[in-house]
Amino acid sequence: QAKAAGKGRLQFYQDSMAQAAQQKLRLHTQLVRAIEQGGLQVVYQPQVDLQTGDVVGMEALLRWPQPGGQSVSPEQFIPVAEERGLIVPIGEWVLHEACAQLARWRAQGCPDWRMSVNISGHQWEDPGFFPAVHRVLEDTALLPTQLMLEVTESVLLKDSRGTQQLAAALRALGVQVALDDYGTGFSNLSQLQHLDIGQLKLDRSFVTALSGTARSLAMVRSAVTLSHGLNVPMVGEGIETHAQLEALKALACDVGQGFLLGGPVPAEEFAQLYFSA
Ligand code: C2E
Ligand code: MG
Ligand code: MG
Ligand code: MG
Repeated sequence: QAKAAGKGRLQFYQDSMAQAAQQKLRLHTQLVRAIEQGGLQVVYQPQVDLQTGDVVGMEALLRWPQPGGQSVSPEQFIPVAEERGLIVPIGEWVLHEACAQLARWRAQGCPDWRMSVNISGHQWEDPGFFPAVHRVLEDTALLPTQLMLEVTESVLLKDSRGTQQLAAALRALGVQVALDDYGTGFSNLSQLQHLDIGQLKLDRSFVTALSGTARSLAMVRSAVTLSHGLNVPMVGEGIETHAQLEALKALACDVGQGFLLGGPVPAEEFAQLYFSA
């Protein structure tokens, strides 16, 4: 009897594995079609100086719109794209799109904004990545200082010469690197001393936990202290409430991002909301 139950469980497990694999394959096929037919979109979310309230830049976020009007979350399709070797071309497309967009806004006289673009670990570790950044900047005529590349802690704080060299080469070019999802990577924080970082982006989970409890406040306070000690601006991600906003301000967090300050929107809407030429 117990054996039969065990067998049933195994069968169930195998079935759901097969289903997950099939789902992934379907996602892959549809994603290839979306790439070929120009079905991907980039939206932009403002980053706001918490002292002045000014928009200082924006994060480019990838969207895959569906016929029904909804979007598949990047958290779902980026892992598939990474597994299938699609993230390098997709990532380069996003980079080009985002840089071209800010260059157009610049030409129209927008404020001194900077564009942040997410870079997957697969891109970061691809030998063609640095040349691609160089090429995109040349093609779009965006100044390197107007670009910030967001790389997650788990990728950036690996103890690797490659990462340090790439970060240094980008820095020499004038491009900044932000450490994304800071606090989630269980990584070797001592690596931070070898890197020239443009922003530390405190993960949303810490901001969400900022309910006023002494512990959550202490966590964020020490993160801000570290970043300021390193002379790196701190960005608070995922600000949804006034209480969170006020807490971050009180802790001297430099920049904020979140639905309260503005959600991700298409380029035209971003320009209408934050820049009236
Ligand atoms: P991320 O880089 O940490 O981006 C922040 C995510 O938080 C975005 O989700 C954004 O829409 C969301 N967000 C912003 N404010 C709030 C808020 O107040 N509350 C909540 N609950 N969420 C907020 P999104 O756009 O779904 O992207 C998820 C992740 O997918 C990103 O996390 C990033 O890791 C990845 N991603 C997005 N676009 C790209 C891309 O072009 N390339 C790569 N490699 N990864 C990307
Ligand atoms: Mg990011
Ligand atoms: Mg993040
Ligand atoms: Mg994230």
